[in-house]
Amino acid sequence: MSAAATGERILTGISGSPGICIGKAYIVDREGVNVIEKYYIRKEKLPDEIRRFKAAVKTGKDDLAAIIKSTPAELRHHVDILETHMALYKDKMLYGRTIETIEREMVNAEWALKKVSSEVKMMFQNISDPYIKGRATDIAHVSDRIMRNLVGAGEFDIAAIDKRVILVAHDLSPADTSKIKLERVKGFVTDLGGKTSHTGIIARTLGIPSVLGLDNATSQIKSDDLIIVDGRAGIVVVHPTDKTIALYEDRLQQYEEYKAVITRSSQLPAITADGIQLQVMGNIELPEEVVSVMDHGGDGIGLFRTEFLYLRRTSFPSQEELYEQYKEVVELMAPKPVVIRTLDINGDKALSYANNSDDEVNPALGLRAIRFCLKKPNVFKDQLKAILRAALHGNAKIMFPMISSVEEVVEAKRLLEISAEELDKEGIPFRKGIKIGIMIEVPSAVIMADVLAKEVDFFSIGTNDLVQYSLAIDRGNRKVAYLYNTLHPAVIRMVKHVVDVGTEQGVNVLMCGEMAGDPYNMPVLLGLGMNELSMVPQSIPGIKDIVKKLKTEDSKLFLLEVLKQGTTSDVLNLIQNTYGNLLPEKK
Ligand code: PEP
Ligand code: MG
Repeated sequence: MSAAATGERILTGISGSPGICIGKAYIVDREGVNVIEKYYIRKEKLPDEIRRFKAAVKTGKDDLAAIIKSTPAELRHHVDILETHMALYKDKMLYGRTIETIEREMVNAEWALKKVSSEVKMMFQNISDPYIKGRATDIAHVSDRIMRNLVGAGEFDIAAIDKRVILVAHDLSPADTSKIKLERVKGFVTDLGGKTSHTGIIARTLGIPSVLGLDNATSQIKSDDLIIVDGRAGIVVVHPTDKTIALYEDRLQQYEEYKAVITRSSQLPAITADGIQLQVMGNIELPEEVVSVMDHGGDGIGLFRTEFLYLRRTSFPSQEELYEQYKEVVELMAPKPVVIRTLDINGDKALSYANNSDDEVNPALGLRAIRFCLKKPNVFKDQLKAILRAALHGNAKIMFPMISSVEEVVEAKRLLEISAEELDKEGIPFRKGIKIGIMIEVPSAVIMADVLAKEVDFFSIGTNDLVQYSLAIDRGNRKVAYLYNTLHPAVIRMVKHVVDVGTEQGVNVLMCGEMAGDPYNMPVLLGLGMNELSMVPQSIPGIKDIVKKLKTEDSKLFLLEVLKQGTTSDVLNLIQNTYGNLLPEKK
């Protein structure tokens, strides 16, 4: 059947998690609460109206508590997001203002809630920061649930789905996704959501194919439509032709076979065809992900993004809480290394209780990461002490993010020393001589690498931000995503400079940005002399697989050719022409 005959259409979004699935769409229908009527309440009836609102809030909280209680242990970290939602039920912005509006305007609770939640939405709309936007989504989920209780609309229940489907939703709340039964849901696609949204994080944790940020999937797809989700490419094919289905069935089979093969050998070391061993490690956000690093054959944790332990709560954690979390990770991985990165908040991960980035026009260039920590020495020292203590239980290293000048490293090290002295005075045991590293993710750090090398034991190249800051491309902006490529010749040259400086000065160089996790980049990275890589755990088997097929000596010669190229597409073509037969798929 031709595309015209079936009406085949391709929708393009953002890759949520890789994989392919083919199946019937199931629209997550949330209509019914959108039509809200306004009516006035007599003064003497206002207390009743407020009571009605409070009852709806209580039901919402009770429902959520029941979901939290029934969530299986392996999905525990979704529950933390739900616990944030619990706190939002009594949030002043939503709860307090709705009651005020009922009283002041003498209107029904539904109308007051609708008004307040649209005001909150407007407030967030002008902020480009994707993390803050994510918080707006959390508030929307909570207000949606209260509204349903007020109007008596039935809850859409994902747990009740009784056939194998692909979910199509405007948005999926963490409460929804925590109820997904993997034997029923093949994959999901949403109108909203980006890589840093909770939905994106959950999609990757569940490991089912998903495409997010499609804008209008719910209006383009109907229940029972046949669709194909290509999670890696970030596309959805609606009403595919027989030819397209056959093509994707082939790809799906190849993908499954490839995954099975590489997973089987992922517990073996990554040794090149000419005998050089690489360390292929995993990036984690939460202690629960250690298991995934182990399952995928990780040789350690090359990046522990600690900010997520701060994001899922309402105030700064104590040193003791942090220590417990870090200790768990370090102990589980021992004797393999764990690089604990100090707090990297603001930028794309704002912390509501730190009260900072809401007045920053450009948070990516604002009081982010080490800059924030140096302004809050007590918060920073709590974390440093927790890391120093946890390091006693295995092989932990410490790493400072977003370094843009030598002074920052000197100051961070001074605070580390003070933290150690304070622990000493209190008689609390901790690791002496912990290895110290910095992220190289700001162009000035690349240029100053020779001076920075004198201050630290290792560098870790963060290509996600290095590309953002050096090519001037907002990493969260879909409109300029076409320009974002880690194989830009400028990026390759910067990485080369850092590796060369590291080699000259005996400083270890690791790479933990997304560049490290794409098999396609491996011939270039190997040629550059990168031998410690860290990536999302699911990428480890693919990287180990390609490493085993490459020869370091060939890659070094190949790099000389790469360095002659003036454009990204020239580099891509060169890789394809030279290594295309070894690589899993084209970019
Ligand atoms: C990076 O910038 O490449 C990196 C690994 O850090 P993050 O993605 O957490 O900013
Ligand atoms: Mg970064």
